[in-house]
Amino acid sequence: MYDYLIVGAGFSGVVLAERLANGAKKKVCIIDKRNHIAGNAYDYYNNDNILVHKFGPHWFHTNNDEVFNYLSNFTEWIEHQHIIKSKVNGKLYDFPINKNTINSFFNVSLTKEEEVKDFIDSKKEFIKNPKNAEEMVLSLLGKELYESFYLNYTIKQWNIHPKELAPSITARIPIRFNNNNSYFNDKYQVMPKIGYTKLFERMLYNKNITLLLNTDFKETFGTIKYNKLIYTGAIDEFFDNCFGELPYRSLKFEHETIDKEYFQECQQINFPNDYSYTRIVEWKHATGQKLNKTSILKEYPVEYQKGLEKFYPIPMAESNERLNKYLVKAKQINNVIFCGRLAEYKYYNMDQVIARSLKLFKDLTSK
Ligand SMILES: Cc1cc2nc3c(=O)[nH]c(=O)nc-3n(C[C@H](O)[C@H](O)[C@H](O)COP(=O)(O)OP(=O)(O)OC[C@H]3O[C@@H](n4cnc5c(N)ncnc54)[C@H](O)[C@@H]3O)c2cc1C
Repeated sequence: MYDYLIVGAGFSGVVLAERLANGAKKKVCIIDKRNHIAGNAYDYYNNDNILVHKFGPHWFHTNNDEVFNYLSNFTEWIEHQHIIKSKVNGKLYDFPINKNTINSFFNVSLTKEEEVKDFIDSKKEFIKNPKNAEEMVLSLLGKELYESFYLNYTIKQWNIHPKELAPSITARIPIRFNNNNSYFNDKYQVMPKIGYTKLFERMLYNKNITLLLNTDFKETFGTIKYNKLIYTGAIDEFFDNCFGELPYRSLKFEHETIDKEYFQECQQINFPNDYSYTRIVEWKHATGQKLNKTSILKEYPVEYQKGLEKFYPIPMAESNERLNKYLVKAKQINNVIFCGRLAEYKYYNMDQVIARSLKLFKDLTSK
């Protein structure tokens, strides 16, 4: 008899398993239908001994001291500024848009931050209350930057025109009036020195934790005895899609190893307008491995269908209505806790799901 059954060995589930076993001496069984731990953050050494992320790049970044300190109990870090560039008309630009991008794209030589700000102000469209993602970018950056860096990228990513997407998708676009070319603004921008999967292994190292892989929750009914269930899988699947499936976007990944030291100049290059992939990632820039060969990943957004992974919730009014019905139903069950990216149908970053699980642990153990 377990105190907790946790469905899903991604960050949401494993942080809770670790805390409940180590912090509250609970007996925990954690299951995952995949053949590995670490959820979408799973990484492994490929045949050429290069550390790669199976499900697309996971760049760790956070402003949350508690999250950073918590993970630091299990790994040392590689200090790393995440650098991402965007290729437009055959030219590489700093991304997110900063002073360098603006000077190079518009062929101007602005120096002071106020000049850059005034220049962008002269490009912006005056839209008082942006109603969709397109209007949001036009009101922040104007037509030229929108059409070159955002319009086609968004269509490729979501297969939906930005006019149909919520303004929130593009509301927090960082725009820099200086030369800062780091992709994120966060205080901590790091990668786990041992890789994500090893970090998860260390978190699960406790005799009170039983881990079962290749184990689908739906196929275990009645076979594992527990007091409380923590479910981090898709909320619609939990209820057998009784209100219909929620919409998801999926991805296909093309991993490749190349017989030269480096393939491109930074860890990620976005291709907003060309090719059907959105980005090429080169791992060694972020992990610091020194080898003669290099591995890259091309990431292709695709329609979700059975057999593919559910990667991104699609933020549209229609999906919100359906989600609300599931959330109401979830509240009516007593001993089940829904948490994580799929269970809450929210696009959480890693640090957000970790913070969420740490908070949940406190709530569970303070009662
Ligand atoms: C392509 C991509 C890139 C990303 N890049 C970043 C990034 O750079 N930085 C960042 O901070 N975040 C990034 N994220 C987000 C990050 O992946 C999530 O925040 C994190 O993985 C969420 O953890 P989770 O445990 O909630 O979900 P998941 O990692 O999805 O784990 C859920 C687990 O539950 C299992 N499961 C589901 N249903 C069942 C079932 N019925 N039975 C048994 N097991 C089940 C699944 O197999 C899975 O292993 C990215 C996400 C994607 C898709």
